[in-house]
Amino acid sequence: MKTSTLLTALAAVGAAISAVFAGPSGASADLRVVATVADLGTLAREIGGSHATVTILALPTQDPHFVDARPNLALELSRADLLLTVGLDLEVGWLPTLQIGARNGRIQRGAQGFLDCSGLVTTLEVPSGPIERSMGDIHPGGSPHYTLDPRAMENVARGIARRMGELDVPNAAEYRGRADAFIGRLRAHRARWEQTLAPLRGAPVIGYHRSWAYLASWLGVRVVEHLEPRPGIPPTPAHVARVLAIARRDAVRLILQEAYYADRTARVIEERSGARLVRIAGGADFAGGQSYIQRIDQMVRALSRAWQRAESASAATR
Ligand SMILES: [Zn+2]
Repeated sequence: MKTSTLLTALAAVGAAISAVFAGPSGASADLRVVATVADLGTLAREIGGSHATVTILALPTQDPHFVDARPNLALELSRADLLLTVGLDLEVGWLPTLQIGARNGRIQRGAQGFLDCSGLVTTLEVPSGPIERSMGDIHPGGSPHYTLDPRAMENVARGIARRMGELDVPNAAEYRGRADAFIGRLRAHRARWEQTLAPLRGAPVIGYHRSWAYLASWLGVRVVEHLEPRPGIPPTPAHVARVLAIARRDAVRLILQEAYYADRTARVIEERSGARLVRIAGGADFAGGQSYIQRIDQMVRALSRAWQRAESASAATR
């Protein structure tokens, strides 16, 4: 065998070996991403394309503050290369247990495979005084419900793409490109959504849980009261009476509530005031393949329909 042929053969062997150990960039192995909630999962799926397999821990039908830390979720985490969390204590009641159970150093807090996405957005409703979780407040560091603002999700998309690219360098440019393309599409849709919901600007609304600060900042609605007296504390009769009085006084048109909360209390307000309940999905229908844009589109249509119903009901009584 001539030297040059031998070198070619050795190079081929070397290439084969490096392909085996290439990890996530190789065709045989994907970047395994686990997102705590569906909205982050659907974004990761968008950005990861064919290079990432994405799973979620909390179903969009579950309250993400309170998830059962079942062993199958720890198993998902044991295999993950990247864990995406909402942060701001949203998952504090259940995720740390799962991280311990997973025995996977790659996705522990501080590791490169752990990304707290709240670090990518500007936090709203940061308490000014001391707040303790023992007082029942489940938003001690500010509201974690930023996935409802598509403007905030631009930064989240960029941050996810950056981290995926750090963990999987050969595909970094593709992740960045996919995030940029997503942001372009999102902006085009956002212009249309803002036009559809322009009549809501300045409108007083009532929330069930304190989830709406980011949505309100985006759309310009005014959240005048919440049915939960404090985040995570169920409504009491005295508080409901107060909220009803406000709904009547301010001619509130909409009550915003995630579909995973029982709607009994909101129905009481609806029946006794001009407000209409809008039940908004707790997240993208991840299993059904829904994208983040489709999820927000669905929410915008629900808001618009409820607004029109409330307006025509109000016109009928005038
Ligand atoms: Zn919350």
